[in-house]
Amino acid sequence: MDKSTVDKCYICLSQFEQQTVGSLDNCQHVFCLECILQWSQTANTCPVDRITFACIHQRRCPGGDIQKKIEVRTPKKADDEEEARDAVICEECGRSDRRHRLLVCIHCDSGYHMDCLTPSLNTGPEGDWICPECAVTPHHTGKNV
Ligand SMILES: [Zn+2]
Ligand SMILES: [Zn+2]
Ligand SMILES: [Zn+2]
Ligand SMILES: [Zn+2]
Repeated sequence: MDKSTVDKCYICLSQFEQQTVGSLDNCQHVFCLECILQWSQTANTCPVDRITFACIHQRRCPGGDIQKKIEVRTPKKADDEEEARDAVICEECGRSDRRHRLLVCIHCDSGYHMDCLTPSLNTGPEGDWICPECAVTPHHTGKNV
């Protein structure tokens, strides 16, 4: 069997006919684009040989020209995003330290330290918290004048 002739998807085992295919940047394996896209949401290693890939090359058929390069999100990146999302900065002092003292407004996502507030709070509110800005600004509920 000629290894360079790929005629079916390693994931769903269906023949390549009309469907768009996807190959990986670090190995020769080819899959239905749909199959490898789905696979890439949980793992960024080739389903066949476990070689890590960073992007999927979209092709009209196996061996065809690359139509598009699709970058894959690696599990590591997800961690970074989580960190960035957690970094709430206090509107008053501009710092993100003392996170356990930082309150986050449910309306505008602004952060405030409990002791940077006026008046300051000694204990966190139970449940949702609304910042002073949002508390004084009435929310328009669609009643336009
Ligand atoms: Zn497939
Ligand atoms: Zn492979
Ligand atoms: Zn502060
Ligand atoms: Zn707010």
